Amino acid sequence: MKNDRINDYEKILSAAVDNGYKIISMEDYIGVKNSTDKLLILRHDIDYTSKANLMMFEIEKKYNARASYYFRKQTVDAELIFLIKEYGGEASLHFETIADYIREHNITNREQLFKTDFKNQCLDILKQDLIQLRKRFQIKCSTIASHGATENRLVGIHNNYLTEDVNIYGFLDIKLEAYQKEFISHIGEYISDTVIEENGGFRYGKHPISVIENGVSPLLFLTHPSHWLYNNRQIFKKIIKVMVYGNSFFNDKFTRI
Ligand SMILES: [Zn+2]
Repeated sequence: MKNDRINDYEKILSAAVDNGYKIISMEDYIGVKNSTDKLLILRHDIDYTSKANLMMFEIEKKYNARASYYFRKQTVDAELIFLIKEYGGEASLHFETIADYIREHNITNREQLFKTDFKNQCLDILKQDLIQLRKRFQIKCSTIASHGATENRLVGIHNNYLTEDVNIYGFLDIKLEAYQKEFISHIGEYISDTVIEENGGFRYGKHPISVIENGVSPLLFLTHPSHWLYNNRQIFKKIIKVMVYGNSFFNDKFTRI
């Protein structure tokens, strides 16, 4: 029993190329002006360290595709970031600053959080995290993406609460946060993956290849590489999670918009 969807990922990119799509990163997208090209924007949230991270990157190279890889602080992979940068892809931050703050301050509910000055403090921390990541890898981090953590569910506040007001972009030296409402409103179709056991592996049940065959553009495709390759032991852990939390564990719409 082994889940290996990596070949399916290749089929999606291959279908995109066959249907005349340009496959680009989030950073590439913000540089596009009035393009008449069909665009497939690839976004990867690196929630976990997985062999699939590098495997997806290798497939993208075969199809002349570029993608955005957003790393959490604990999943930063220096080797992979170097490869992405050298290839011309985008590596940046998958931030969870509010979740970290909640954990560090032992906050248990929303009211308690709002009694603090968390917004300003978290913005300072996020700015410093970005400065450090840029300095360490000589990367731009012009786009960033919010991560959904358990702590965020606890208080009902997304990490991108920090970036909802686009006037803060200058302070953070970014051009886009991946969940920005205006950006999402320009997207023709937004597809997010999930575990293979749910909805055939796509959160809203729509398969990317059918959307590609319909020529929808821009198509934003979010993947979590760890959902595309896992072994027996990991499947066993997932089954236990479903038994403990029920299927709602994977159905939670809060974590990923
Ligand atoms: Zn995430």
